[in-house]
Amino acid sequence: VSVVPHVEIANEIADLIADDPALYVLARPVINFDQVSSFLKDVGVKWERSRDAKPAEDLIEFAGRICYMSFGSDQSRKTNQEYIHHLIKQQHESVLEHASWTFLLTGVSRAFTHQLVRHRVGFSFSQLSQQYHDEAGAKYVMPEEIKKHPALVSDWIRLIAGLRREYVTIAANLNPNESEQVRVTKEKQRAIRSAARTILPNATETKIVFSANGRALRHFLAKRGAIVGDLEMRRVAALVHSQLMLEAPAILSGFTSRIHEDGYPIVNHVKE
Ligand SMILES: Cc1cc2nc3c(=O)[nH]c(=O)nc-3n(C[C@H](O)[C@H](O)[C@H](O)COP(=O)(O)OP(=O)(O)OC[C@H]3O[C@@H](n4cnc5c(N)ncnc54)[C@H](O)[C@@H]3O)c2cc1C
Repeated sequence: VSVVPHVEIANEIADLIADDPALYVLARPVINFDQVSSFLKDVGVKWERSRDAKPAEDLIEFAGRICYMSFGSDQSRKTNQEYIHHLIKQQHESVLEHASWTFLLTGVSRAFTHQLVRHRVGFSFSQLSQQYHDEAGAKYVMPEEIKKHPALVSDWIRLIAGLRREYVTIAANLNPNESEQVRVTKEKQRAIRSAARTILPNATETKIVFSANGRALRHFLAKRGAIVGDLEMRRVAALVHSQLMLEAPAILSGFTSRIHEDGYPIVNHVKE
């Protein structure tokens, strides 16, 4: 049995296949306790904070308490977690909008981000441009469904590698000056890459920064976390869920994340 084809495929995989999805936290809520204290002093009340609350959770609780000025003798004995759960149960979820995060997501496909950017409310996006960025060295997200069928992996790689070569050929043919090292104008470059990118597949890896508030993230997880056939979405939803478990577990009231029977994570939501 020759091992050469396997070595070749392994090399192609290393060159073509994107790393697993990764979620980086670029920014998170910070609460300015000096200002909170100044305010409480100005109005002559105290706020008994839960010791284990995270900054995002404190911010949400504080904003919620402002609605009723439930500080001092008017403060209920609820912990921060109970307070936020109560807000969610009462559908007073606008308070969760005060806490927002900025994430960088890598190792995801353009097909995936096309779905992500449909979330209009409480989300902002900045995505790698295929007009400005040369995609000659792009990597590709192999669908989990293909990975489950090893016999299909080499076919998939061959097709993707061919498309990447064609991308380079189209860009080169549209830029006859390139061999003479003549720089094309920025707009000509944009036109060339715009034309060449039309043959890039949905699997093309992309990078996207997105900011979202607590309410919008709950909506995203509830809508997208448990669609059994959408494995890439489920993987990302699980990453978001596990990061939020560290950032502000109280806002995840009603959500659970686990490994589904198919071996991939799933984020379920039960309305309280
Ligand atoms: C299983 C599934 C299949 C899908 N299939 C398709 C498909 O085939 N084709 C397709 O195009 N999309 C499809 N989508 C995308 C879907 O239609 C939504 O665009 C996407 O899920 C974002 O959800 P959203 O609109 O609730 O989120 P957001 O845009 O973040 O909106 C949040 C909420 O705000 C309110 N809202 C937002 N905008 C308006 C508005 N203009 N008017 C009134 N209320 C508003 C709604 O209550 C909405 O739920 C699919 C989504 C899922 C989960």
